[in-house]
Amino acid sequence: MKTYAYGFPRLGKQREFKRLIEGYWAGKVSEEELLSGIKKLNEKREETYRKFVDSHPQGEMTLYDPMVDTALLFGVYTAESLNDYFNLCRGKNALEMTKWFNTNYHYLVPDFGGKKPQFKLTKPVWDRHEGAKENVHVIGPLTFLKLSKGLKPEYFAGALKELVELTVEYANTKGFKSLHLDDPAFVLELSGEEWKAVEEAYSLFEKSNCPVNLFTYYDSVDRLDVLFNLPVSGVGVDLVHDRGENLKQLKEIDRNGKTLFAGVVDGRNVWRNDLFKTAELIRELGENVVITNGAPLFHLPVSLSGATLPEELLQKVAFAEEKLKEIKLIGDILSGRTEEAEEWVKGINVPFGELPHVRERVSSLKDDDFVRKPEYRERVKVQKEKFKLPLFPTTTIGSFPQTEEVRRIRLLYRKGKLSQEDYDTFIRGEIAKAIQIQEDLGLDVFVHGEFERTDMVEFFAEKMKGIATTGNGWVISYGTRCYRPPIIYGDVERKGQMTVKEIAFAQSLTEKPVKGMLTGPVTIIAWSYVREDIPTEEVAYQIALALKDEISDYEKAGIGIVQIDEPAIRERAPIKRRNWKGYFDWAVKSFRLCHSSVKPETQVHTHMCYSEFGEIIDYILEMDFDVISIEATRSKGDIIEAFERVNFDRQIGLGVWDIHSPYVPTVEEMKEIVERALRVIPKENFWVNPDCGLKTRRWEEVIPALRNLVKLAEELRREDG
Ligand code: GLN
Ligand code: ZN
Repeated sequence: MKTYAYGFPRLGKQREFKRLIEGYWAGKVSEEELLSGIKKLNEKREETYRKFVDSHPQGEMTLYDPMVDTALLFGVYTAESLNDYFNLCRGKNALEMTKWFNTNYHYLVPDFGGKKPQFKLTKPVWDRHEGAKENVHVIGPLTFLKLSKGLKPEYFAGALKELVELTVEYANTKGFKSLHLDDPAFVLELSGEEWKAVEEAYSLFEKSNCPVNLFTYYDSVDRLDVLFNLPVSGVGVDLVHDRGENLKQLKEIDRNGKTLFAGVVDGRNVWRNDLFKTAELIRELGENVVITNGAPLFHLPVSLSGATLPEELLQKVAFAEEKLKEIKLIGDILSGRTEEAEEWVKGINVPFGELPHVRERVSSLKDDDFVRKPEYRERVKVQKEKFKLPLFPTTTIGSFPQTEEVRRIRLLYRKGKLSQEDYDTFIRGEIAKAIQIQEDLGLDVFVHGEFERTDMVEFFAEKMKGIATTGNGWVISYGTRCYRPPIIYGDVERKGQMTVKEIAFAQSLTEKPVKGMLTGPVTIIAWSYVREDIPTEEVAYQIALALKDEISDYEKAGIGIVQIDEPAIRERAPIKRRNWKGYFDWAVKSFRLCHSSVKPETQVHTHMCYSEFGEIIDYILEMDFDVISIEATRSKGDIIEAFERVNFDRQIGLGVWDIHSPYVPTVEEMKEIVERALRVIPKENFWVNPDCGLKTRRWEEVIPALRNLVKLAEELRREDG
């Protein structure tokens, strides 16, 4: 039985990737040190593969993102130096970044700008394939095109063909022994025309001198029969996240003697594999099967060694390195060696982290518990009366700059080197400064600034039972940026009040309303590893109930506005639209559950940031908030169109300041956005705010930008008379 694995994290156990590249940016690591460091890191990666599996791709490494490497290889962009390369990634004219399928990894989006693509094989400044011969990793032509932007539909088929030809030419001239074609876009819902174009273009792989193995993952492929008819020697399918649809087809179709790379080990979640059950499945799949992972392993931390997890949990989870081991163990079982596998699965079904009263609370929820009363039309009157906000109220999204000092003090506290009391005093000082600044600027609705929060999910994870944080379980979210997804393993409940102390303190300093800031259930779920022994829907309701308790404490503490952030609601949606309804059903209900029992005068806000708001607007309306603020820099036109389509009767703050850039927008620039929006949104419903939280900005940018933002609101009010 052969074993294979792909997508092992490039980060390194000690986050060497981050250190090398950021060191280079900072001028502390020379180009030579960078390149040799990356090479060594990759050798270590490949050594890890070899410890466990028979083969693996080569040339998977990147200096930032494989999509940008591919764009350079095919001459979509040029980079003559490493600096040019990094400029494409993060410079002034950097490519847009967006989420890779329904994951929290962001890739760089190649842009054809509406022009006919001109591809040309180009020797890159940095060659990720240097020394690679076997299973050389390349992004598949379909994925490259489907994930790019600005490609006119009329150019699609031609561009696809050209890319296949160039890929073949590349492999042939380089003399590769085999290709690992990384092509997850096959799991998208492709149109009949696209399938036709694929069949035609991919038939050109016939001209390849070496075998080509095509890998799909994250969901099922609608036409597996087509894939097994292409001139490729193997097809990789995800048998973990396919809702059974790949398996069903595999039982019916003729694999034409091709190798099936059976993705049976989960690359996206941390739970240990039920190895014996999986071995049985592999047996059923018949001849010519290779055991592999179901999705690239870079969604997982590198290794369990050094993770600070509860003992019982350690017996249930596997990170990337341990997933490799699982692939090996499945192979062992099939060769009759079962001892180690038996040991490995011992803990997987031992239940722990159960809270009967939480289960009871969720199971006794009634339809009414998801409905806020009175309806918006009624409660908005009470709220207007209470807050007496001016027309075009101004606010921010939550966080203020996390300065060097804030991060240093927080770290000291987290390491136990600063007492609770001293830390609280420091945080209170920061809050007081932030309140004073907002007071001086003349904003209408205040925030406390979120100085006490490391990360909007990890912060809440630490304050809830049933969620573990990993200590060093780092995962790349884009470029060199890492985060540590928590693990939701048991029933969830607040350990105590989570945020009331800071918000109430902020409120005590001002007459203006201060928003209580929470991260919503869907976002907590999207950016964590979630238990699979109960439906995700139930996990969402448990989290919602914890947030509900927090909101009830806000009301008792005299906090009148609550904001429940759901920036991940779009990204967590299933890849295939036909599965959206089921998802949005619980996503929306969990949000409604958070706020369904607030008083009529409590104003409920939400915040979202992503680019395709228009396509989910109907679901968003169902969430029944009073006010929404949305990031909209990338697709203002799109969003405004969406508002024309539906009857959006809630208040909305369309971000007028792109906070991802240090640029301070002028009043006029911001005004342009508002004027466009006011064509479809009634002025009574319009708020003025930045795109997103300000934690990555500096005060030197924040203060002048917010000053302009307040000026804008005043100007709009004046013009209104
Ligand atoms: N309240 C959060 C903040 O301001 C929202 C962050 C986000 O949308 N990602 O930082
Ligand atoms: Zn945001």
